[in-house]
Order: sequence, then structure tokens, then C-alpha cells
Amino acid sequence: MTAPLRRFEDKVVLVTGAASGIGAATAERLAAEGGRILCADLQEEAVAESAKRAAEAGGEAEARVTDVSDPEQVRSCVEACVDRFGRIDVLCNVAGILRFAHTHEMPVEEWNRIVQVNLTGTFLMCQAALPHLLESRGCIVNTSSTSALKGLPYGAAYGASKAGVLALTAAIATEYGRKGVRANAVCPGSISTPMTKDPAFPDDVNMRLVMRHSPLDEFRGPETVAGLIAFLASEDAAHVNGEHVRVDGASLS
Ligand code: NAP
Repeated sequence: MTAPLRRFEDKVVLVTGAASGIGAATAERLAAEGGRILCADLQEEAVAESAKRAAEAGGEAEARVTDVSDPEQVRSCVEACVDRFGRIDVLCNVAGILRFAHTHEMPVEEWNRIVQVNLTGTFLMCQAALPHLLESRGCIVNTSSTSALKGLPYGAAYGASKAGVLALTAAIATEYGRKGVRANAVCPGSISTPMTKDPAFPDDVNMRLVMRHSPLDEFRGPETVAGLIAFLASEDAAHVNGEHVRVDGASLS
């Protein structure tokens, strides 16, 4: 029998979107590998529950209510992580929102909110954590999407925000790589989480267009993405920098 992986022993990990789905699975997986986890999310009760589950999985964990689109809250979340655990080795940006609308009907306020959370939120977290990651020679794993790589009908704002996450990741990887900080991204697709459970498409949705994003077999659980995030955040991926990896059941192949 192989020994369980302990790649995050003594490592401090900050996970956003940790109250639900992929973020919760990531907090749990990295804790199970020995990590000390700061779980950040908007949802107070659910993020506290995630931190509890992560601690039970084997690591230490603390919850922090944070809106990643708010620069002040982001700064204090990063400070809280350093105050509690003394450092940051890994930043996993998982928080995100998805809204569907016909592009010609999408209110600009909704476009702005999607970009603000998915792209600006990821940028703000990276910006606040980078001084600490430079000290620890740590790494970042951002969450993009298959929608950054193939048109998602009714999802223009979402896809654009996730394509921005890829460009941000590549920029950080090249700017800080020689200083010992890596940045990579995951591109999930067709993962069973609250986000994909009951999507609110426009009334006259053309499902044939939406089905172009279908996986070969079936939707998989968030732990499949958490496993990839764990690999990219670990020393196993020491020579992987500026990369994005799909985890989508071949939906784009
Ligand atoms: P999820 O279950 O809805 O989890 C996302 C979490 O992020 C929720 O707890 C959400 O809170 C939180 N959040 C939203 N806005 C936030 C903010 N401003 N600050 C802090 N936390 C915030 O969705 P998921 O499927 O796990 O998605 C995780 C990430 O994977 C997202 O970035 C998503 O775009 C990406 N992704 C998912 C899939 C998929 O198939 N599931 C595919 C491609 C990419 P609320 O519940 O209040 O919104």
C-alpha cells in the first residue's frame, strides 16, 4: 500500500471560494496532505463548515469571510492568514460567479460584477499575497474555465473574465518566475457543484449550442479539480509555470 501524500506538511495555503464546490474540495484535499488552510469565502456559515471539515481531514484550518472583489477585505484576509499562520506558501483563487444572458441583453452592471469577482478578485488576491509568496518562494493556482478556450453561448462576460485569468496567470508566471514564484491555472468544465446544478439560461436558450461544452462521459465531482490544484501547488510541479490545464472530461477535444 502506498503512503498517503503529505505534500503540504508545514505549508500555509489560502483558498478563496472555500465555502462550496471546488474551493471546499481544495481546502479539504490540501489539509488532508498536511496543509494549514485559510478558507475564505462570502458565505459565513458554509465557510466555517468547510474549515471544520478541512481540519478534520488532517490539517489546521481557519475560516475568514471575504469578498474577493473588495480590495480592503482582500488585504485584511491576507493579513489574517499571515497573523494566524505566519506566512503564505500557496494561494488558490477559486471564488467565482457564473451568470447567463444573451450578450445583447446583459446589463452592464452584471458584466461588471462578473469581471469584478472572477478577474479583479483574482488579481487583488494575487497582488496582496505576492509579497508573502516572494518571501516563501511560493505559488499561485488560479481558476479559469473551458469557457476561456471555447465560446460559451450566453456566457460572454464569464468567458471573458476567465480568459483574463489566463492572461493574468501568464503575466505573473513570467514576471515572478525567476524570483521563485510560480503561477498556473486550472480550466475546469462539467464539474458537479452548486454553480452547475441548475443554471439559469435565457428562456429561449438553444441547448444545442450549450451542449457543445458536454464532456465525453459524465460530470465529475469537485475533488477531481482539487487533485489537479494540489499537484500544481506542490513541489511535484516545480518546473510547471505559466501553464493552464483542462479538467473537463475531453469536452474541448
Ligand atoms: P460554487 O460551488 O458556486 O463555489 C464558488 C464559491 O465562491 C461560492 O461559495 C461563492 O459564494 C463564492 N464566491 C462568489 N463570489 C465571491 C466573492 N466575491 N468573494 C468570495 N467568494 C465568492 O462554484 P464551483 O463550481 O465550485 O466554482 C469554483 C470555481 O471554478 C469558480 O471560479 C468557477 O468559475 C470555476 N469553474 C467551475 C466549473 C464547474 O463546472 N463547476 C467550470 C469552470 C470553472 P456564493 O454562493 O455566494 O456565490
